[in-house]
Amino acid sequence: MCASVTNIPQENLTIPEMKGLRSHKCLVAIVTLDSSSLYFTPKGGVLMKQLVTRMSRLLRIRHDRVKNPSLDRVYLANQYLSGSGLEIGALHHPLPVHATVRVRYVDRMGEAELRRHYPELQEQHFVPIDIVDNGETLSLVNDASQDFVIANHFLEHCEDPISTLGTFFRVLRPGGIVYLAIPEKTSTFDRDRPVTPLEHFWEDHRSGPQHSRWAHYREWAELVDKRCDDLETHALRLLNKNYSIHFHVWDQSSWLLFLHSMQQTFGFHIEVMLRHGVEIINVLRKVESQTKETV
Ligand SMILES: [Zn+2]
Repeated sequence: MCASVTNIPQENLTIPEMKGLRSHKCLVAIVTLDSSSLYFTPKGGVLMKQLVTRMSRLLRIRHDRVKNPSLDRVYLANQYLSGSGLEIGALHHPLPVHATVRVRYVDRMGEAELRRHYPELQEQHFVPIDIVDNGETLSLVNDASQDFVIANHFLEHCEDPISTLGTFFRVLRPGGIVYLAIPEKTSTFDRDRPVTPLEHFWEDHRSGPQHSRWAHYREWAELVDKRCDDLETHALRLLNKNYSIHFHVWDQSSWLLFLHSMQQTFGFHIEVMLRHGVEIINVLRKVESQTKETV
């Protein structure tokens, strides 16, 4: 489904593979609701997917890069991340950043222990762990010491996401960036779960997450793992293993409500909120003269 049709200024085609397109003077982009794809066609001409393929061959561009040229993690990282900062829980899938950007990788365990914990990732190359620390509290990281914090597909694993976001803004310098991707439930294995109400996050924050822990594991066992016969036993097994489930679930609407509440609490600017594939990518900037609230 087409959401909008717009002219793309040639200077905005910054992905290296797309530079060849600059020689084409009149291009129109169609931004689709389902995948944020861009299709290019001569201005005023008939939209033809075949044309994309032909141009790809002509310009020796991979077809998938033509379909998803810019509005993605890498483009946004290049636009917003500079200086030095942290990425939390990157494992084998770190966010690509510009060569001048320095990233230190944080995880709750060293690499050997992580490999034991994730045997299914045996063949993957892990990023080197620079700081062994709990990404939710970052107790080894000083206040206002980082230019950015990257946490992709991390917040849904946190039992108290409000405290976690408070931690991120604590360690950021004024003007620093939180780069955060979360799964959008309708595109993931969370699709059968109800979205988490905003009040629930605040109750987890005020009362401590233990009051809702069992309910989360039980819901996971029932609606993600689809256990019927041994629902309670399976949920208890996961809980005793401290298995890292998605404790909370957002769709686009509930994420907007959550983000608005967090903005009122921590006072950041929302630079980007982009639905992209199965996830929502967010770029949040700590205000320059932030008066940190105690929450
Ligand atoms: Zn909860």
